[in-house]
Amino acid sequence: MKIAIAGSGALGSGFGAKLFQNGYDVSLIDGWEPQVTSIQQEGLHIDINGEGYHFDIPMHCLSQIPSNELYDVIFLFPKSMQLESVLDAIKPHIHKETIVVCTMNGLKHERLIRNYVEDARIVRGVTTWTAGIDVPGHTHLMGSGPVEVGCLVPEGIDNVKIIVDILNQSELNGVVSEDLHQSIWKKICVNGTANALCSILECNLATLNESSYAKNLIYKLTQEIVHVATSDHVHLNVDEVFEYLIDLNEKVGPHYPSMYQDLIKDHRKTEIDYINGAVARLGNENHIPAPVNEFVTNLIHSKESQLNAQ
Ligand code: NAD
Repeated sequence: MKIAIAGSGALGSGFGAKLFQNGYDVSLIDGWEPQVTSIQQEGLHIDINGEGYHFDIPMHCLSQIPSNELYDVIFLFPKSMQLESVLDAIKPHIHKETIVVCTMNGLKHERLIRNYVEDARIVRGVTTWTAGIDVPGHTHLMGSGPVEVGCLVPEGIDNVKIIVDILNQSELNGVVSEDLHQSIWKKICVNGTANALCSILECNLATLNESSYAKNLIYKLTQEIVHVATSDHVHLNVDEVFEYLIDLNEKVGPHYPSMYQDLIKDHRKTEIDYINGAVARLGNENHIPAPVNEFVTNLIHSKESQLNAQ
């Protein structure tokens, strides 16, 4: 079975390393030249839960995937705004039974992915693993999972089981989601509050929790997200989700969310259009207003312009 990791930054290289370590025939694919060159020349150096490893994993540049390569499974791990160009580049390497796995953050990636493979071959999910890039070629992966995956249509369940098996063989803790859409929307609640607000306020999660004004914003954002989620037949309780978010922020207080790290630290563009922006768009499609999510999206874009984010 040939596996590709399309988008091998932080989380992609982490998943690739775990699969490679457990004997899978896996290739990393990425479009960021420093990451590609470093891994091609020196292998991947990765810290997994505090232990250092070095793996000589095959690494291809996105624009130079060998023409004869066909992949049975493709894990998608670019940033959301890179997804279409990554899918275009990987398209010639998809065959009629290729399974495409997307556990990226963000809403409705399946709308794009189904232009490349049919619904039954799309495995969608969410993960609680976290990862980062220290310098190109040197990354870290933290957590113990799970990676919760599910199918978009009932015919896809066998493909979901294949992916759960691969994840479990690789100690990534795969589980079949009992309610895929609910899990995706819960993750949107986490990312749509902490990521955006910590980036705008330039603070960590503990500081966010200390302000009653910020807590009020967390509540308002959550209220809108939960309301828009009903258009996806997902019914969450606003107060329960809010309590969960405040508790989570407390537990990981010193942590700066990934959007903060990308935007404030590295001046990189964010996935805001696929998180709060997507909530506002989906709300519009379904006549459910989400003005606070739209406002926050515009604030993050303003900050991207201010910082000349690339
Ligand atoms: P990433 O930013 O590390 O990598 C994405 C792409 O950007 C890769 O091509 C990478 O090489 C490139 N890149 C990385 N640093 C760069 C830099 N400084 N300049 C230019 N290009 C750079 O993305 P990720 O964190 O692995 O996230 C992939 C997907 O997984 C996203 O949808 C993300 O939301 C989701 N996700 C990430 C985490 C996490 O902890 N990293 C956790 C859960 C979900």
